[in-house]
Amino acid sequence: MPHALDPATREALAERLRFYRDLGLSDFYRRPVEDAPEPARSLPPRAGQLEAEQAEPRRPSSEPALQGRAPLAIQSNFFGEEPTTRARKGFTAPPQIAPSLPAEERAAALEVIREDLGDCTRCALHKGRNTIVFGVGNPAARLMFVGEGPGADEDAQGLPFVGRAGQLLNNMIAAMGLMREECYIANVVKCRPPGNRTPEPEEANTCSPFLFRQIDVVRPQVLVALGATAATYLLGQRQPLAGLRGRIHAFRGTSLVVTYHPAFLLRDPRQKKEAWADLQIAMKELGLKKAGT
Ligand code: SF4
Repeated sequence: MPHALDPATREALAERLRFYRDLGLSDFYRRPVEDAPEPARSLPPRAGQLEAEQAEPRRPSSEPALQGRAPLAIQSNFFGEEPTTRARKGFTAPPQIAPSLPAEERAAALEVIREDLGDCTRCALHKGRNTIVFGVGNPAARLMFVGEGPGADEDAQGLPFVGRAGQLLNNMIAAMGLMREECYIANVVKCRPPGNRTPEPEEANTCSPFLFRQIDVVRPQVLVALGATAATYLLGQRQPLAGLRGRIHAFRGTSLVVTYHPAFLLRDPRQKKEAWADLQIAMKELGLKKAGT
């Protein structure tokens, strides 16, 4: 007698099989990582976009304003500028790297950050939220994912990536040979933007210092930015996703890989193969082997 699966388990398995099919995994398994597609070429910036951003000199990290920062301390502005200055420009450049913590101290350190966040009203997003979605996972994860912000399901449950996009992310993690619980998952903003709109720069710049602190505590070996918003606020540069995908970026002591947001992949499943190519870059960095190799 075949073992009967309950409907939820059967649907989850079917979804995973559809995901593997969409990835074309049988093709990728026959190809070594070295044969992955060439990195995508950058698209030309929009008129005036990069020129305006490059016109402002970056403060070198050796300058006094960035020295001697205590680990885990909140800095509302890492550049000693008025907070709105960079918010108006659309992103906050990455601040200083904090020293790494022993693995056994990281859960408590994340708790400290959560307590510092409190019942946050630092930006306008607090008005429409039900729950702050702080982040979840292994405090000493080797792999961390960063998305844009909570959606309706996440806002209701207080956990990141639990809706349909979350199921797809789970499948992506499983395809890498890992479990969700082995990773750490967070977002650029911790409160749901109304109507799932993209966070405004002022909102993202207000919230992202807490994300940077989480990254400094977890200190993953590989950080995957899911979508353009995560890539923009992590890397501190606004570029088309095509110009950021397909390669490793050095970021806060980790290797950062940029790929598509699972919600985008749900809308355009044809891009799943491209996302899989990005995840293989992350797997290679982590020393993970593809199934069957
Ligand atoms: Fe606070 Fe972040 Fe929520 Fe804004 S999005 S209210 S900064 S927790």
